[in-house]
Amino acid sequence: MTELFEGQGCWLGVDLGGTKILAAVVDADGNIVSQAKQRTMADMGPDSVIERIVDTARKAIEPHETCAEVLVAAGVGAPAPVDVAIGTVYGAPNLAGWGEIDLGPRLEEALGIPTFVDNDVNLGTLGEFERGAGQGTRHMVGVFVGTGVGGGVIVDGRLFRGFRDSAGEVGHMIVLPNGPLCGCGRRGCLEALASRTAMERDIRAGIDAGRGANVAQLIASSKRQRLTSGVIKKAVDAGDELTLEVIDRAQFYLGILVANIVNFFDPQMVVFGGGVVEALGDRFLEPIRQTARANFKQERDADQIRIVPAILGDYAAVHGAAILASQQLAQSAAS
Ligand SMILES: [Zn+2]
Repeated sequence: MTELFEGQGCWLGVDLGGTKILAAVVDADGNIVSQAKQRTMADMGPDSVIERIVDTARKAIEPHETCAEVLVAAGVGAPAPVDVAIGTVYGAPNLAGWGEIDLGPRLEEALGIPTFVDNDVNLGTLGEFERGAGQGTRHMVGVFVGTGVGGGVIVDGRLFRGFRDSAGEVGHMIVLPNGPLCGCGRRGCLEALASRTAMERDIRAGIDAGRGANVAQLIASSKRQRLTSGVIKKAVDAGDELTLEVIDRAQFYLGILVANIVNFFDPQMVVFGGGVVEALGDRFLEPIRQTARANFKQERDADQIRIVPAILGDYAAVHGAAILASQQLAQSAAS
């Protein structure tokens, strides 16, 4: 474990998502002492979203007077590629109109404290590593299954970012050459086979072919008329065959992914987060474990490699963001 939150003071963690902004004040012991949440309203454009981040941050800071006085630094998770050293984000696919934006410097000016930015999935992984399921490990990989599939890598207790801060894109590992088209424009990426979006595509195709009456009804009666994680859970509980078949395929490719990760990288733990995992829990993970283990190269101590659900839910990234702030501040003080 890295030395976190040395001394006193509080840290601000912000998770900027496509639909909501979550801000939390974290004390020196790593506890969330106050928080605020607002809708992102991404269609209003970047300037408006940045104003809403600042506003959400202030709403999180204000109720806690002691912390407001000793707020040291802020960390922000953005749904985009980020150059961490300068706080620049490069086009966020879920945020309309976001090209290259100096998010870190702009927030730093508005908030009046040092502000650091990283990719949100990296920070979710860092949060789970320091405060969640990964505590006590040294080498860990996070895999988050949602509308896409994101990932993050911890090597020797530190987030591994790679040469261009682009490491950990497990969702775009090609697991089926010439497979289904991915949102990234290539074919056969894991995300095109195992994300909730891929599951919905396959389930709708099955419904169009006259199958899955049960899941069709659940989608139609859901609030957003989409295959949400809640709908998946209900369809699985009801034993809907089409849904089980589609989930089974996603689990198979996720198992192949985990085997590839383990064979390449030998982590102690792979942590799975995201809505689908939260909804189905261990039921979702057990087939992934089985496929993964059947494809491990190294048999020795293979049972000690743990494939587990994340435990921080929506709070993984704000914890990670507060930790980022602490680590980056310590690093800049040392250099
Ligand atoms: Zn892709």
